[in-house]
Amino acid sequence: MSILVYAENAGGSFKKSAFEVVSYARAIADQSNTTLTALSIGDVENAELKQLAQYGADKILTVSHDKLKNFVNQAYASVIAQVAKSEGASIVILSNSFSGRGLAPRLGVKLNAGVADGVMALPIQNGGKFTVKKTAFSGKAFAMVELTSANKVISLTPNAYKIVDSVKPEQIEAFNATLNEPDFKAMLKEIVQTTDKVPLPEAEIIISGGRGMKGPENWGMLEELAEILGAALACSKPVSDAGWRPHSEHVGQTGIAVSPNLYIAVGISGAIQHLAGVSSSKTIVVINKDPDAPFFKVADYGIVGDAFEVVPKLIAAIKNFKK
Ligand code: FAD
Repeated sequence: MSILVYAENAGGSFKKSAFEVVSYARAIADQSNTTLTALSIGDVENAELKQLAQYGADKILTVSHDKLKNFVNQAYASVIAQVAKSEGASIVILSNSFSGRGLAPRLGVKLNAGVADGVMALPIQNGGKFTVKKTAFSGKAFAMVELTSANKVISLTPNAYKIVDSVKPEQIEAFNATLNEPDFKAMLKEIVQTTDKVPLPEAEIIISGGRGMKGPENWGMLEELAEILGAALACSKPVSDAGWRPHSEHVGQTGIAVSPNLYIAVGISGAIQHLAGVSSSKTIVVINKDPDAPFFKVADYGIVGDAFEVVPKLIAAIKNFKK
C-alpha cells in the first residue's frame, strides 16, 4: 500500500491547499509506515515542484500536456487513476476544492474505492479500521465514517490541516499518461479572474456582512477591517441578491462553503442556510445588535451591539494593538 496525493496548481503555482494535502498525507504515510507520491498535472516549473518534497512527498510525478493545461474533470480523473494504479496507491488524497469535489466521486468509481469528502482530521486507524471525521449535511454536522474498502479516496477540507515541513529528497519524474479522446468532450476554454484576492474557500480569515449592514455604501468599514487583518470578504445571500456585493462573495448552502480559521459575521442573522456553508470555520465571531439572533448559538465569541459602533472600535483596537 502507498499513498497518492493530487497537488492542485493555479496557473503553475501550487495552491496552499496542495501543501496542506501533502502535509496531511505525509502524516498518514508515517502512521502507516508507507511512501507518499505527489502528482502534479499541467505546466509547473521544477522549482515549484520541489516544494512538494519540502512538505513530505517521497516522489513527485508530473503529467504535462497541451490538453491538460486547464482543469478537465474527466481527463484529470483518468490521469490520477492511472497513476494510482501504476504506483499501487490504495489511498488517494485531494483537496475538497471545486475540482477536488468533482474528481473524488469519479476516482471512487475508477478505483472501486470508498470516498470520504470534506474530511476534517487525520484518520483513526485501529485494528484494521480506517475512520475519518467529515462534514455532513452541508456542514451542519460532523460524521465519523469508516472506509471499509481496500482503496480509499479522501478529499480534505481547506484549512483543516496545518502545513508542516517534512523535507524529503527531491525525486521528480514525468509520468506517461494515456489521454482518451472521450474524456475531452467538455473543455474549459478560459479562466476569467474576478479578483486578485485569496479565493474564499482557501481564506484563513473572512469578514462577512449581512443585511444588517443596511446598504453597499457601508461596506467601507468591512473592507478596512479585512485589509488590516489580511482577510477575504464574504456576504449573505440577500446581500448579493440585492447587488450590494458580487455573487462570488455569497457563502452558504447555495453559495460557497468556507472553512477559515476565523469567520467574523457582521449583521448576519445566522439562518440555517447561511450556517450550512460556514459552520466548519474554526472560530466564529458574531456582531449583531439582536441578542436573540440565531448566529450567537454557534458563535465562539459574540458581540451584542450596533455594527456601526462596534466595527470602527474593533478597527481602532486592532490598529492600536499592531503599533
Ligand atoms: P437578515 O435575516 O435580514 O438578518 C440581518 C441581521 O442583521 C439581523 O440578525 C439583525 O439583527 C442584524 N442587524 C441589523 N442591523 C444591525 C446593526 N446595525 N448592527 C448589527 N446587526 C444588525 N442565505 C445565505 O446567507 N446563504 C445561502 O447560501 C442561502 N441559501 C438559501 C437557500 C434557500 C433554499 C433559501 C430558502 C434561503 C437561503 N438563504 C441563504 C437565505 C437565508 O434563509 C436568510 O434569509 C439569509 O441568510 C438572511 O441574510 P441576513 O442574515 O444577511 O439578513
